[in-house]
Amino acid sequence: VKACFLTLGCKVNQTESEALAQLAVQEGHQVVRENEDPDIVIINTCSVTAAGGSKSRKLIRRIIRKHPESLVAVMGCYSQISPGQITELSGVDLIMGTQDRRFFLDYLKNVNKKESKQKGPVSMVRDFDEDICFEELPLIENESRARAMLKIQDGCSQFCSYCIVPYTRGPSRSRESEKVLTEAEKLLRAGYREIVLTGIHIGAYGRDLPEGPDLAGLISKLLKVEGMSRLRLGSIEPMEFTEELLEVITSSEAICPHFHIPLQSGSNTILAKMKRPYTSEDYARLLRKIREDLPEAAIAADIMTGFPGEGEEEHQETLEFINECDFAGVHAFPYSRRPGTPAAQMPDQIAESVKSRRVHEIIEAGKKYSRNYARRFIGTSMEVLLETIEREGTCRGHTANFLELAIPASLNPGDWQPGQIINCLIQEEYFVF
Ligand code: SF4
Repeated sequence: VKACFLTLGCKVNQTESEALAQLAVQEGHQVVRENEDPDIVIINTCSVTAAGGSKSRKLIRRIIRKHPESLVAVMGCYSQISPGQITELSGVDLIMGTQDRRFFLDYLKNVNKKESKQKGPVSMVRDFDEDICFEELPLIENESRARAMLKIQDGCSQFCSYCIVPYTRGPSRSRESEKVLTEAEKLLRAGYREIVLTGIHIGAYGRDLPEGPDLAGLISKLLKVEGMSRLRLGSIEPMEFTEELLEVITSSEAICPHFHIPLQSGSNTILAKMKRPYTSEDYARLLRKIREDLPEAAIAADIMTGFPGEGEEEHQETLEFINECDFAGVHAFPYSRRPGTPAAQMPDQIAESVKSRRVHEIIEAGKKYSRNYARRFIGTSMEVLLETIEREGTCRGHTANFLELAIPASLNPGDWQPGQIINCLIQEEYFVF
């Protein structure tokens, strides 16, 4: 069967599509591009914002129209939460959610295109019941052997008042540490130079494992795996940097000094309404602690603006807080009203035009600091993991603290390869801002 995977949304979705594609290849199927006449197109959807849902619907409609002969399968967060809406887009043949997708391979094996098209959609969306376990997907390999994603956890039990994820992904489940370690060993043996720990809420790792370990324990074990020299952590919630985690992070050179710590708002009133269990003072204290040991660490934050009830005063508090934090990166998003979440029912919803203006102001405030941060490294020699080499020779890659660089072809001796780590004397013009 020729299968084409199209993916919207976050890193976890990308990791899962790639893993499912690899399972299909292991079973003798072929993974093709959209223009290579696929027998089945699998669309991995997103619903974290209203825009994610509408993009997903658009893509599904386009595929149904463009490929009337192909089977169309839909998976991911949007289909988990709104399978009915997908059935209404007549032309979808298989609906899967965010879990338990092992049957997909049997489906591929036994599928008869004509019959399935006549029968109408098969729905395989499962509710999150008590025995819901972690979905094991195979290790993901790609040709460049630079950076590998290692999924350690799925779901979230936090229920921040704006977030749909606990409903689309279910409760937090951790992957057993032995399985994580085996996969890490395989990835390093396959030649990957950097491993990124991913998940929906990785700071909650281990809470559901009776024997542990927690995230700090898992990282300590991973650091002992032979060849582990570059381990990057996915986003971790501020309150989940325990003393143990800080100790592991700051005492190993193999941990990339790059931390993504969602802030969401600089106003304590809004943080409380969001049900985020920390204050801006807690957040600032954490940054100080990290920087005591790792003064050069890159710290990036997500900020959501336009939450119900956020007035100009609260918005200014966020802008001022950005000025205190010296972030290496700020990712700003407008609040998106998700039906079914508590915040969707709150009064004082903010107009879209106000949200856009605030997002813009936050991005501008953050930019100044991210550029200043990057400039600190001009004239120093840093290791760069090469990810792509363009045809004319320019090499693109990241440093351990996640500065993105485009190194001119003139420095390339001609034999640089993706997946190689080189030493580079940093110049301002190499930065990709
Ligand atoms: S921690 Fe909050 S924002 Fe993050 S996935 Fe869980 S509920 Fe959503």
